[in-house]
Amino acid sequence: MGQIDGKVAIITGAGSGIGRACAQVLAREGAAIMATDIDTDGLTETARLVDSAGGRITTRHQDVVDEAAWDTVFAETEAAFGAPSILVNNAGIAIAGALADYSLEDWRLQMAVNVDSVFLGTRAAMRAMSGRGGSIINISSVAGLRGAAGASAYCTSKGAVRLFTKAAAVECAQLGTGIRVNSVHPGIIDTPIWQKSITRMTEAMDADRIAALTAHSGANQMDADMIAAQSSPMGRAGRPEEVAELVLFLASDASSYISGQEHVVDGAMTAR
Ligand code: NAP
Repeated sequence: MGQIDGKVAIITGAGSGIGRACAQVLAREGAAIMATDIDTDGLTETARLVDSAGGRITTRHQDVVDEAAWDTVFAETEAAFGAPSILVNNAGIAIAGALADYSLEDWRLQMAVNVDSVFLGTRAAMRAMSGRGGSIINISSVAGLRGAAGASAYCTSKGAVRLFTKAAAVECAQLGTGIRVNSVHPGIIDTPIWQKSITRMTEAMDADRIAALTAHSGANQMDADMIAAQSSPMGRAGRPEEVAELVLFLASDASSYISGQEHVVDGAMTAR
């Protein structure tokens, strides 16, 4: 018997990285999955992986910033599998760049995709799950716990997710909704977002600035693998499934008294 047999989960950004791993792990433990993303090719691959392992999954294009789409996603999920009781607000982007050169347009896009989406998803889940109960898991970051050079907007967005999660958890509990809300804070995880962010930084900055930004980490260049190895006491980046196993615990009834908390999965990165 799986740890979340019979439950129904919506996972955003499930066409890649951590979202895909969440789809695989939650399906492995018995949940039916509604996987959404703007990357429909990625969703096709996620569905293939879950299907081939014997899981239940359906996919749907969803831009998490589109307010109207959220009601449709919940309605389609219920029609396909029954009422959802798990939401993983995972979709996100990382627009890196030096603060002095950062555009307001990029700032607003960073906030929209990483913060507005979590508000919209949580609100939709509260409307759909209230009284029945459920678990909302918001994927933040260690960047939501501490600052990082070249990542001011990203840190701000993930810090907002952290505190939004706490406020929503208190409100859900005090209203007697039966809904728990938690945030997950990965360190450096080996997925495309991390590589893309480094590439963008490298393209946007001159060599002197890169050297100044990377000096603290012991890495002498913007090399994604090298920075991951230097940043984590474990000497490596995390794997998406190592985040997904924590998400599984928070989705399951094993975490029934845990809400409003920040859960770090970072190979001891923030412990030193
Ligand atoms: P990823 O592999 O790039 O996956 C993110 C997915 O979200 C991609 O498929 C992306 O599509 C999609 N997406 C982007 N904008 C979207 C939108 N508006 N609507 C719907 N989907 C959208 O990155 P990941 O590492 O798995 O990231 C998952 C979450 O973990 C993010 O919230 C990220 O901030 C967080 N996180 C990651 C790390 C890390 O080191 N990897 C660390 C801490 C936290 P496109 O590829 O087309 O953009």
